[in-house]
Amino acid sequence: MGKVAINIATGSLLQEETIVGIDLGTTNSLIAIVKTDTHQPIALRDIDGLALVPSIVHFDEHANTTVGNPAKELLVAEPERTIYSVKRLMGKSYKDVSKDAGFFSYNVIDDDTDALVKIQVGQKFYSPIELSSYILKELKHRAEHILKTSVTKAVITVPAYFNDAQRQATRDAGRLAGLDVLRIINEPTAASLAYGLGAMKGEEKTIAVYDLGGGTFDISILTISNGIFEVLSTNGDTYLGGDDIDRMLAQHWNKELNIADTDKSMMQQLRVTAEEAKKHLSANDLFEGVIDGKKVSITKQQFNELIQPLVDRTIIACGNALKDAGLKIAQIDEVVMVGGSTRVPLVKESVKRFFGREVHDELNPDEVVALGAAVQADILAGNNTEMLLLDVTPLSLGIETMGGLMDVLIPRNSKIPNKAGRQYTTQKDGQGGMRISVFQGERDLVQDNRKLAEFNLTGIPGMPAGMAKVEVTFLIDADGILKVSATELRSGVAQSIDVKPQYGLTDEEVEKMLLDSLTNAKDDIKTRALVEATTEAQQMINTTEKFLTKYRKAITEEELILTNTHLQKLHDAISAKDKDKIQHATESLNDVSRPYAERVMEGALKDAMKGKKVI
Ligand code: AMP
Repeated sequence: MGKVAINIATGSLLQEETIVGIDLGTTNSLIAIVKTDTHQPIALRDIDGLALVPSIVHFDEHANTTVGNPAKELLVAEPERTIYSVKRLMGKSYKDVSKDAGFFSYNVIDDDTDALVKIQVGQKFYSPIELSSYILKELKHRAEHILKTSVTKAVITVPAYFNDAQRQATRDAGRLAGLDVLRIINEPTAASLAYGLGAMKGEEKTIAVYDLGGGTFDISILTISNGIFEVLSTNGDTYLGGDDIDRMLAQHWNKELNIADTDKSMMQQLRVTAEEAKKHLSANDLFEGVIDGKKVSITKQQFNELIQPLVDRTIIACGNALKDAGLKIAQIDEVVMVGGSTRVPLVKESVKRFFGREVHDELNPDEVVALGAAVQADILAGNNTEMLLLDVTPLSLGIETMGGLMDVLIPRNSKIPNKAGRQYTTQKDGQGGMRISVFQGERDLVQDNRKLAEFNLTGIPGMPAGMAKVEVTFLIDADGILKVSATELRSGVAQSIDVKPQYGLTDEEVEKMLLDSLTNAKDDIKTRALVEATTEAQQMINTTEKFLTKYRKAITEEELILTNTHLQKLHDAISAKDKDKIQHATESLNDVSRPYAERVMEGALKDAMKGKKVI
């Protein structure tokens, strides 16, 4: 994938950089590239030929890190200093993970339950983003060592169910490791890409991706049409995988061996032998071994009976995923197997039987996600024009609403083409026009984002404030051109404009805008709260003043004076830009005016009912 170009001005060779694909897994991670000569994706291996890097980070007393297999060896001896499964903590608050806290043998903490979790090792605290960045750095080094060139651009995969916070955390981990993360893609999408499924122009496919790894199980149903993948449903169990198979087998033998839970080293040996037996039985009918000087054995049939309930759970989840996608088994065109545990013959047979078809297992199930990420990287590098480029919006798109707030219609990372719409209304009585200002960016206030376009919807017929229904629609076509239209639904007046969202924005600018939004997130929340309180207060002032003019006669002198005092207080609070004071003054004004407002409205209702029949 490394392209070579010649700088015509200087005659020097420009080595174009390789973009790598990374599977940042719960148990293992790995890095892959597409080879320039063969155009085939390959996983990058160490001198022992191993591609998998255990997703484990160990800290010594001086906070020096080791990653991967050397760290895994310290898992039993130094549990408090050896961090595994950090992916489970990405983008999570302590509240999110407190119920799973028992799973971790290291210290997961947070003083504020809504803040993102931290991991304490010795006297130091690490975020899951930092910990993941150590794993990514290790992979980056491996690639640089093998490719003999610097590696700074990557595609990283995440589970399809990852939310925006988890995706953002993954992206940040990449940045911290010195990687420019060009794209975050879904693991099942990557697995499908590795098999070249549905990525050819004009192809349409429905794919089931069955992913049984070391600690997690996911089933995803996707469709692909014209190069756009869409996840229709996901199901699974975040605590079900090969480790559970090992545990079941270990327990089975421990009925005979009676090893105490407290004997950590024997328990470890039991688990290691169980994993060895499981792998052996993937290709043989009998396993025989020795634990603590005693012989143990298991036949394939016994093993299958033992793990049947576990496999059944995954098949039930497949049924649920299909149901959620609104599909029948016969509508699935392809089934893709992912994860080391799909090597277990019973698993493979059960999946084949359920879907009633052969499954894709030609590629190494441990590597298939990273290989697909490399294929995506190759498409991004422009080396593969056969496959369609799957594109997403790099920044959020929205319009300006009251108080200069950004109202996002299409969030960043949404797939292209895309369509979104929302209804707005007028602020003033008789308002005949509405300005639609289109912005791009992640900040809460439009002034901090980038204006893309602006137009006026005119000719809205006169009606009271809040009555008009203006539907604003954003449509991004396959070329990334955004068309914004606004229609007043009661009268049908309409206006539209074409915008090129990315025009003039370099990758660096996009990065900067994302970084800004991260750095300023706290301030933005505060500003948004102040703007919202001010807008509400202003509306309250308008309504009250209107009411006072219209129903002056029905209000006592006392009520008028009291209302004016509170109106003044609210004006002062707005000038002071103090959110709490504004909210408090708005409430007080509301309390003061409510009694006479209710009195007047009741009277008006009685008048209106006079002489009319009530049905
Ligand atoms: P992953 O998270 O995808 O790397 O999956 C790792 C899991 O696959 C671990 O539980 C391994 O024990 C399991 N695994 C690896 N090789 C085999 C094999 N030959 N047969 C059965 N399970 C395997």
